[in-house]
Amino acid sequence: MIEEIESDILILGAGGAGLLAALHARAASAKLKITIAVKGLLGQSGCTRMVQGGYNAVLHPQDSFERHFADTIKGGAWLNHQELAWRLVEEAPRRIVELENKAGCLFDRNPDGTIHQKPFAGQSFDRTVHRGDLTGIEIMSNLRDSILESDIRVLQECRALELIDANGWIAGAVLMEIRSGRTIAARARATLIATGGGATMYRISSPSLEKSGDGMAMAWRAGARFLDMEMLQFHPTGLLVGDSKATGGLLEEGLRGAGARLYNGLGERFMERYDPQRLERATRDVISRSSFLEIAAGRGSPSNGVWLDAAHLGEKFLLDNFPGMVERCADHGFDLLHDHVEVSPSAHYQMGGVQIDLDCRTNLNGLFAAGEDAGGVHGANRLGGNGVADSIVFGARAGDAMANDVAGLKLAKPALDVDRWTIPSRERGESPFALRKELEDLMWEKAGVLRNAAGLESAVEKLKELEERAESARIDSLPAWNAALDLSNLIAVAGMVARSALIRTESRGAHFREDFPQSTAAWLKNIFIARDAEPRCELVRFTRMSPP
Ligand SMILES: Cc1cc2nc3c(=O)[nH]c(=O)nc-3n(C[C@H](O)[C@H](O)[C@H](O)COP(=O)(O)OP(=O)(O)OC[C@H]3O[C@@H](n4cnc5c(N)ncnc54)[C@H](O)[C@@H]3O)c2cc1C
Repeated sequence: MIEEIESDILILGAGGAGLLAALHARAASAKLKITIAVKGLLGQSGCTRMVQGGYNAVLHPQDSFERHFADTIKGGAWLNHQELAWRLVEEAPRRIVELENKAGCLFDRNPDGTIHQKPFAGQSFDRTVHRGDLTGIEIMSNLRDSILESDIRVLQECRALELIDANGWIAGAVLMEIRSGRTIAARARATLIATGGGATMYRISSPSLEKSGDGMAMAWRAGARFLDMEMLQFHPTGLLVGDSKATGGLLEEGLRGAGARLYNGLGERFMERYDPQRLERATRDVISRSSFLEIAAGRGSPSNGVWLDAAHLGEKFLLDNFPGMVERCADHGFDLLHDHVEVSPSAHYQMGGVQIDLDCRTNLNGLFAAGEDAGGVHGANRLGGNGVADSIVFGARAGDAMANDVAGLKLAKPALDVDRWTIPSRERGESPFALRKELEDLMWEKAGVLRNAAGLESAVEKLKELEERAESARIDSLPAWNAALDLSNLIAVAGMVARSALIRTESRGAHFREDFPQSTAAWLKNIFIARDAEPRCELVRFTRMSPP
């Protein structure tokens, strides 16, 4: 027996995108039945809560949409879907006002009462709105309160397993309570995936641990179209803390924006060699690659990283501006105030994702995608501060569009294969936890910051083998079942990353091919993939701005 629930709108994931979608749908109509299913806890899961630096929005009279847009497109190495990027830029300020006036967030102020905005790498204007260096907590705590004050149903610690397909129409999802294993058929007229990406497929990564590319993997299996899946961003400054789960956790970009410097193991300020003009303010791809090259050349720090040094900025400045970062370092025995700290590139964010229209509709009827699950906004590289803005802006758009689309729509109720979701019992087989480690090492070494054809081909082959081994992994407990589900989703997303990376025979943005180190005009193309179709490369449409 499987429990059944029905809603007009089902939202999978409760980060910025999921919660804004729910609140906007509720604002559009008080009559809609809205359900949020979240793998973690409401307000305490996902990466939006982890946002340190802040949220990009044009607020200052000397800044402009055109400038923010140009920064975003140049940062994205011209691969962005320009109309999506324009919506991001144009609506980001409105959503800041909404976050403050409706949700009750309070961002840092200048002495004259205007919102304080700080510099971030790759931006021509200081436009990053923040609350100290813990902006995500401010946003998520208030959004959580808004949800709790509403009648929106929230299923916590409840993961989506698979989308329900009603003859080409997505009609909800099968869910599973993580602690009990109980399955639920959550039927809905419109379904949003807002589960974030799968950068946790890498050995060193920054996202929250429950994220395992579930939404993308479900959408892939259902036949959704994806674009630019090779574009996976590495953040340059993930902490190195040995085997601790804290390894990969970030020291925020604002530190480099404020003047923190990077040194290799020989004490050289190596960014002088790679980007002498922007130095540590270069974009993330450039800095991550430079650090990786230093490490690969044997000039790394003792734990295969590089050194981040902010001590010259002074104790008072760091305590005033980056108290969270100072504390995070202290938690692990590092002294950011007086000493350098060991950091490494850390897999951070997927720019690629499900193809959406301007209102987050996918190619599958009834299925919407927003936030990190969706692709196109950021092109080949996301600017710091544009991620949370993306989730908030497109989450809101998805909520508006779903509320509109479900009007008058009948609920499809296809029969479900209940047996498929019975938890298997396999006493033998490999540990899904060990297989996960193998996956992370494989992706790090063969499809990471530096890529080449031989490595990517072997990754594609090895992923097929891992998929088979994962299917017969040992399932002797509920945690093992959850780990196996995570693993199979991550393998699905990793496969998309590796295959797309093999197709793109050039280097652009976050994607660097040692065998094709240059960007070429011929590759101003998006790569589209879907499970049941051959990959397709299409010229980018420069609807607002053309490359020089
Ligand atoms: C450490 C860190 C710092 C960052 N700092 C910044 C910054 O300063 N500025 C910026 O712009 N961006 C930043 N980002 C990126 C930013 O966090 C993301 O772009 C954005 O928050 C993604 O929002 P989202 O709503 O798509 O996903 P998330 O906020 O990640 O939410 C995903 C949600 O989906 C849930 N979920 C996952 N799988 C399932 C499933 N199977 N079923 C149901 N629910 C599921 C999760 O529990 C979670 O609630 C940072 C990211 C990290 C990791």
